[in-house]
Amino acid sequence: MTTSTPTENHFFAAIRAAMPDLAKPLAIHPDGAHESYGDALALSARLANLLVARGVKPGDRVAVQVEKSWTAFVLYLAALRAGAVYLPLNTAYTLSELSYFLSDAEPTVVVVRPETAEAVKTLAASLNVPHVETLGTDGAGSLTQAAAGLPETFTDVPRGPDDLAGILYTSGTTGRAKGAMLTHANLLSNAETLRDYWRFTSDDVLIHALPIFHTHGLFVAGDIVLMAGATMIFCPKFDAAEVLRLLPKATTLMGVPTFYTRLLDQAGLTREATAHMRLFVSGSAPLLAETHRAFQARTGQAILERYGMTETGMNTSNPYDGARIAGTVGFPLPGISVRITNPEDGTVLGADEIGSIEVKGPNVFKGYWKLPEKTASEFHDGYFITGDLGKIDPAGYVHIVGRGKDLVITGGFNVYPKEVEGEIDALPGVVESAVIGVPHKDFGEGVTAVIVRTPGAGLTEAQVHAALEEKLAKFKLPKKVFFVDELPRNTMGKVQKNVLRDTYKDIYTPAA
Ligand code: AMP
Repeated sequence: MTTSTPTENHFFAAIRAAMPDLAKPLAIHPDGAHESYGDALALSARLANLLVARGVKPGDRVAVQVEKSWTAFVLYLAALRAGAVYLPLNTAYTLSELSYFLSDAEPTVVVVRPETAEAVKTLAASLNVPHVETLGTDGAGSLTQAAAGLPETFTDVPRGPDDLAGILYTSGTTGRAKGAMLTHANLLSNAETLRDYWRFTSDDVLIHALPIFHTHGLFVAGDIVLMAGATMIFCPKFDAAEVLRLLPKATTLMGVPTFYTRLLDQAGLTREATAHMRLFVSGSAPLLAETHRAFQARTGQAILERYGMTETGMNTSNPYDGARIAGTVGFPLPGISVRITNPEDGTVLGADEIGSIEVKGPNVFKGYWKLPEKTASEFHDGYFITGDLGKIDPAGYVHIVGRGKDLVITGGFNVYPKEVEGEIDALPGVVESAVIGVPHKDFGEGVTAVIVRTPGAGLTEAQVHAALEEKLAKFKLPKKVFFVDELPRNTMGKVQKNVLRDTYKDIYTPAA
């Protein structure tokens, strides 16, 4: 932390220093057209000039709810250069959700899709948000129009390591979304650590098929490419057939687990098809051990699973060299300390003991926007309480067993959903499962399983019970089993257990 007046823009100075020859492509579009590092500098300068002309001062928020595009990515760089706090928003948010974000974050500028501009303008006027600009997928809109005549040079606004670079609202599966404040130092340390740990160099070509409103696509994938002076193939969205086509032109892919299950559905996914690739990374949600094994069997490549979150960037990773163990999220990254504590009394637990995962390091965020008390309550002796439950095995690998709030307490016993899901997933005829706790009049919560069967499998509730009875203590057995075609997932591939809990909330305690 520094209190002296900054003389340079902490993160963007590092991005500049890492830049290769400016003619080198930073982004290649799937059709082969490309955008160079020089293009990124010129466009971000024009956009930064525009932001400043719109009254953006250091520390002001620039909120952005647009489709993924090259210009949208460069807008992030422009906001950094202008000393602003970049605030990307999921395009799935409705106008009423946007209303909450705008009133909470009080941005100076909000950039939205052309089709929502009229409605957002009315909203912005009522919330005193001074400027609304538009940006379409093709780069057209009021933003680029207004920036077109502005200079292609810009003096980056000085910002110190502790100044905010971004606010990301957490996916917030329960309660109101909270704005996680990330500093220049947070983003820089995360990008440098991952670049080095995963051995990114300027020779790398990353397939970028993630959204850029989330930490994974923006602060992991995007920032690593920049800090390595590498190139990305910039896909508007994930399409398994398209990614398969691009693999021979690339060296690395970062994805959520669904990328890998969808790639496995492609007959063309073979050793030859992936021969040019040196690294496949998965995160944001648990990768089934089965997916890891199937991918390795088909391609010979061991997917590297890592663990992080909006508030912290990345915390742990399976090793680059050495065993990438399916079902684990690997070791704490260099400079980051991870410990497991007893959720009841906060004492630090030993190897293999399940408890609350806590992390400390330069990656950990500055706090929740405008919520100092909430922030204070999420820290424990300088460690951030992630809300995830897990353990560290004797070899040092971190295992996640679920979100704290997903823990099921039935008749006073704790049931970790992952353990039951693991047994169900191992049954023949099962694709995947989700185990949840729902209110139960006798037990407090009843263990409930929601299962996706393989096509044509005739597995029944009775068969699931019979198979699990041999493996699990009685209190862990699902009291009811439901079969569904697919599990509800959010855009980052996470199973929405809150949706399932809501769907099945009355099954043991019928509504009067
Ligand atoms: P978000 O803030 O949207 O990135 O979500 C972070 C949460 O995703 C973490 O707290 C974990 O619960 C979950 N998560 C991220 N990576 C993994 C992983 N590799 N395995 C299991 N859960 C993960």
